[in-house]
Amino acid sequence: MPTLEELRLFAKYHLIRRVVDHPAPETALGVVSLGYDADAYAETLRGYADRFEVAAVREIAYQGRAHPIFDIHVAAARPKKKLLVLGGVHGNEQAGLLAIPELLDAVAEAPPEDVAIRILTPVNPVGAAHFSRYNADGFDVNRDFVRFETEEARLVREVAESWRPDFAIALHEGPQDATFMITNTLVDEGVVAAALEAMAAGGTVLATEDYFGAKLSTPGYAPMGKLGWLVSAVWGATLSMMATGMWFDGRGVPEITLESSWRLTSHGARVRGHVDLVLAVARALSGDK
Ligand SMILES: [Zn+2]
Repeated sequence: MPTLEELRLFAKYHLIRRVVDHPAPETALGVVSLGYDADAYAETLRGYADRFEVAAVREIAYQGRAHPIFDIHVAAARPKKKLLVLGGVHGNEQAGLLAIPELLDAVAEAPPEDVAIRILTPVNPVGAAHFSRYNADGFDVNRDFVRFETEEARLVREVAESWRPDFAIALHEGPQDATFMITNTLVDEGVVAAALEAMAAGGTVLATEDYFGAKLSTPGYAPMGKLGWLVSAVWGATLSMMATGMWFDGRGVPEITLESSWRLTSHGARVRGHVDLVLAVARALSGDK
């Protein structure tokens, strides 16, 4: 049986679009900071402008400061497929942010032949700067894909609608003790197998339970399935709340949401799986003619 505290947190994370009225630091359920620094991160990303297209595509104002969202385009020599990566939709899930420079280093080393990669990060820059799950107005951006009340969700929609990716990956973290991925109904088994294999090979511990404590029959893999799809559809219809996975599902785009453990103190243990997953999906898309 879940405790009252767990039920309260469940309600906060799943039943309320606007949870607070500011980017409240969120440290419930043992979130450990990896030392993300907004200014240093922005400077690091700008440093890739000699190799990739790097643009501050939006600035979100908060308390007299402008917080940039970067749009980074890794071009392919002969682009056949397009992969969209979302980092930091929840600002306090730092592994998904810190994975981006490592991912860029990897693709700079071995540029993709036929898969273009486009990265939006931090999707929630104010939350990231304030170690908060929420945006400047206290909204959970990853519950906003029905009403699009937040500028951040609108930006994701705009990029997805104009660029039309073949595949999307959202980098997240959660309170479970290891890494797993949630796939929408359009992700095929070959991509799943390649992604799990790549993460395991990189030393990422694959979770045997998701964040609700439900057993994962294949470690690291939580497919949405028919029931999950139905629950998401009802959630959207009744509470007007939807996460990126279901939204991309409705647009015909396969999506993986990766969830590493925000409880771990090791940078490598949290970040590596995100990098390995994106590279594995890019390779799978490349082989998929
Ligand atoms: Zn998240």
